[in-house]
Amino acid sequence: MAPRIWTGVAAPVAAVSVLLLVIAVGSAWYLRNMQESVAGLLTENVTSMRAAQDLELSVRDLRNQGVRYLISGDSTLLEPIPRLRERTMAALGHAETLGTTAAEQGLMQKTRAGLQAFFAEYDRMTGGEPNKADYAKTLALIDSVLAEEVINPTREYLRLNEGMLAKANEENQRTTARLTTGLTALGSCGALGGLLGGWVISAALRRSMQAAEQRLRTTARQLDEAARTAEDTATRAGRSADALDDVAKSAAAVLARLKQTERDALRAEQLAWAGQMAAGIAHEVRNPLMAIKLMIQALAAGRTGDRLRPRDMQVLEDEIVRLEQIVGSFLDFARPPRPDKKPIEVGPLVQGVADRVRGRAVVQGVDVVVEVRRPVVADVDANQLQQVLYNLLFNAMEAQPAGGVVRVRVGTPSDNPVLEICVEDEGPGLAADVRDRVFEPFVSTKEAGMGLGLSICRRIVEGHDGEITAADAAGGGAAFVVRLPLSRSTPPARSDNPALART
Ligand code: ADP
Repeated sequence: MAPRIWTGVAAPVAAVSVLLLVIAVGSAWYLRNMQESVAGLLTENVTSMRAAQDLELSVRDLRNQGVRYLISGDSTLLEPIPRLRERTMAALGHAETLGTTAAEQGLMQKTRAGLQAFFAEYDRMTGGEPNKADYAKTLALIDSVLAEEVINPTREYLRLNEGMLAKANEENQRTTARLTTGLTALGSCGALGGLLGGWVISAALRRSMQAAEQRLRTTARQLDEAARTAEDTATRAGRSADALDDVAKSAAAVLARLKQTERDALRAEQLAWAGQMAAGIAHEVRNPLMAIKLMIQALAAGRTGDRLRPRDMQVLEDEIVRLEQIVGSFLDFARPPRPDKKPIEVGPLVQGVADRVRGRAVVQGVDVVVEVRRPVVADVDANQLQQVLYNLLFNAMEAQPAGGVVRVRVGTPSDNPVLEICVEDEGPGLAADVRDRVFEPFVSTKEAGMGLGLSICRRIVEGHDGEITAADAAGGGAAFVVRLPLSRSTPPARSDNPALART
């Protein structure tokens, strides 16, 4: 029920909450940016206005100073003129750098041109001796050039900035109003979303609890009915009834029946195995026994004289050895000994087994090639691992009666930290009708095969927590791969290692 509520209700509510959070964070960021840009704009306009006021004041001071000199004729009044001139040009330079729009720059250009014209004319008229200046001309110059060409554009510059300031202020107010509306809406949505989500979750929980309650009621009713029925039965039988006791008894009977069925199934399986084993043993033992019987009968009938010929003795011995082998194999299969695992470097062990089968391989024209890619240590029972390798190598040689190559590779695959021993041949490969069953007991395509070799190999490998698989080799033939866990310890010195000592 909990996952259903989560996927059906809580997940969409959580998604809406996350969405609201994202919108809120986005709005806060936008608001901050907006405030920053408006504040920047306002500061810029105010600074420009200050610069324009400075400029106007400087020009006015300049004019007043000139007019006062012309009225009084006091030449000391001309002394501050160079300083005022410097202040005026500096104020103009400041206003120029702050005027960023084309209109502001145009007005400042006009102001500069006016000031330059004024000072050029003033310099020319005074010729270095200001007290010699013509009163009327100088006054006209001050009024026409300074007032017309300097003060007017400066004022216009000031008005322009006042207008821009008012505009920025209005824009700021509009943005604030918009954001106030947006944030109010967002807050309302959040609250509404929370209310709605809570309501939907509580409704879903209520529904699920009602359903659970309904089921509980039904179960209780059924239990009630069962108890009443049991009570009726017991009453009819004339004894005091205990419904729970009856239910417990029935359950115990059912459990007992189930256990019995399980035991029967296990027994049937064991019997089937025993039957299969018996059939296998009978099949294998019959041929050597028959040979021995025929020979003894021939001896009894006097057909071989009163004693067996050396050739018959040899056949008799061979058949007895075969019987021993058969019994040994069955014992190996039926009761595989517990592995006595020790850390062993596997490469030399494989080399040793290959060396020991090489004599037979040479006779058969088979070349046994061993590749040990890197030293690998695994916890193994050396004798049992040798037994596996003998089986695989003999099978590989038997698959190539007319000669060929058996390749044994030892290493660890790059993608898997395990010991891997791969035995590959160039024979005909696994027969189609047995390829999925080669590890099962009594599966053989060979005339004299018992079909136990590979099943014993599998038991041994699994006893080492490993696995053995069969597949087609890349260049035809069969490939058997044994995988075993790597050892965590280092192998004992060579002389302590029985497998290595023998190789
Ligand atoms: P057996 O050797 O007595 O037949 P095994 O269990 O060793 O019993 O092998 C079972 C069967 O698996 C063999 O009869 C054969 O059909 C198949 N087999 C095993 N090794 C090879 C191999 N190298 N190439 C082809 N078939 C193989």
